[in-house]
Amino acid sequence: MIRRRFQIPPLGIRIQLTLWYTSISALLLLLFGIAFYSTLQVFLASSFDVTLQMRSQQVAEAVSITNGKIVVDNMVNELPELASTAAIVDSFDGTDASISAHQNSQSTLADDASANRRIFVRVFNTAGQLVYSSPGFGTIIVPADAVKLALQGTPWYGTIGSTDDQEMRVYSTMLIDKHQLIGVVQVGQSLSSLKERMQRIALALMVLTPFALLFSALGCYWLAGRAFNPIHRLTRIAREITVKDLHQRVPVPPAHDEVRDLSLIFNQMIGRLEHSFTQQRRFVADASHELRTPVTVIRSITEVALSQSSSTEDYVAVLQGINAESERLGALISDLLALARADEGQVHFDHDAVRLDLLVADAVASLEPLADERGIRLCTQKLSPVTVLGDAARLIQVIISLIDNALTYTNNGGEVSLSVNQVENAALLAVSDTGIGISSADQLHIFERFYRADPARSRAAGGSGLGLAIVDWIVRAHDGTVRVESKPGQGSTFIVSLPLS
Ligand code: ADP
Repeated sequence: MIRRRFQIPPLGIRIQLTLWYTSISALLLLLFGIAFYSTLQVFLASSFDVTLQMRSQQVAEAVSITNGKIVVDNMVNELPELASTAAIVDSFDGTDASISAHQNSQSTLADDASANRRIFVRVFNTAGQLVYSSPGFGTIIVPADAVKLALQGTPWYGTIGSTDDQEMRVYSTMLIDKHQLIGVVQVGQSLSSLKERMQRIALALMVLTPFALLFSALGCYWLAGRAFNPIHRLTRIAREITVKDLHQRVPVPPAHDEVRDLSLIFNQMIGRLEHSFTQQRRFVADASHELRTPVTVIRSITEVALSQSSSTEDYVAVLQGINAESERLGALISDLLALARADEGQVHFDHDAVRLDLLVADAVASLEPLADERGIRLCTQKLSPVTVLGDAARLIQVIISLIDNALTYTNNGGEVSLSVNQVENAALLAVSDTGIGISSADQLHIFERFYRADPARSRAAGGSGLGLAIVDWIVRAHDGTVRVESKPGQGSTFIVSLPLS
């Protein structure tokens, strides 16, 4: 049986943000709700106690002492709520049994509401004997300590269950008349109204919280959408940029934020791409041009030879011309290949310990016949024994290329000299000539591909304008540098600096 695995696709940033935000909001709302509810409960409970205290003071107004006996006046005058309590208690006692069932059910609803505000009062004398009790107090069993502690001067608070399953808050305190302790007053009130209020608040919180969460989630989703607008704009513009219009740039927002950074980095990237595309295009155009020249030469000399009957000597000359151009073409193709591979980063370099001075001596020895042929003195000056880490074959290519250029651009009777020195942690190879020199303007470009300060002379000497570009690439691959010091008409010195092994 093939089991299919269902994978939930990863959520988008907008949805993720909304989910995170809503979860955190839910947690905060829950904590806030709990804190709000508990604080309110404590506050309402303490204000309930304060109300009881005030009621006890009202009760005290109705109590006096005459001939050592406690006299309780009409308590309802002081505490009108007692009247409604009495009525409820009476109806519970069944004194209204004659009332019809219909009336009964109607009055029960009203009674339920007022039952929540039921108040009970008791008065004790200093001996702790009950001298007054409002109707219905008998349903509450108050601990004896309530009276005892009050007589000792400590007010007593307590929450007590009544026989009809209602919770009552009871307060006992001293009864003072003319600065004299005459007994204890005890006031009790049903906690139902408080509980009902707390229940209503809890319900309101439970109903409102999901709505608040829903609105905050929608708000967050909308805001996240707005926040991503600049990125959407960036993506749209970026999509429109193709190879053909790499000069375009995405707009950079003025605010210093992530989108600005992204736009700047994006523009830098397009800039680099544009630069390398332009270079690539120029390279291809220059290479085609260079390749076409020898082919054109070969075609023209062969066409001339074929169009007229020529002697054997003429044909030999034509063949020699073709041979020279093919050699030139071969050299050019191998240079182009080397640079193309360099661009792709495919070329492997050895990292051997190489004696630079010995390489120079070898190169000079092999090019001496060519220098003699051109009437130029090729010599070495100080060749200090220095070892660099690198690829011997590539380094010898650098030395030969520099000597070859020096011999090409130095006139008959001139001199080309080489030296190798150690300066601090670098090996310095200098190739000096007494040739035609290079102008300051040309010095800035001679390491570029196909650049020739003197195209006619370079071409005549078989140069392609790639020699110094290859020298620069090899030296940089060895973590070194190459530079030129030159004055037109006085000669040039190419200095290669390579790190010591
Ligand atoms: P090329 O094949 O034309 O010699 P290079 O890359 O080797 O190409 O050199 C680039 C250009 O730098 C040359 O065309 C020439 O104008 C100038 N150049 C290089 N070496 C010397 C030198 N020793 N003296 C004067 N000019 C030089």
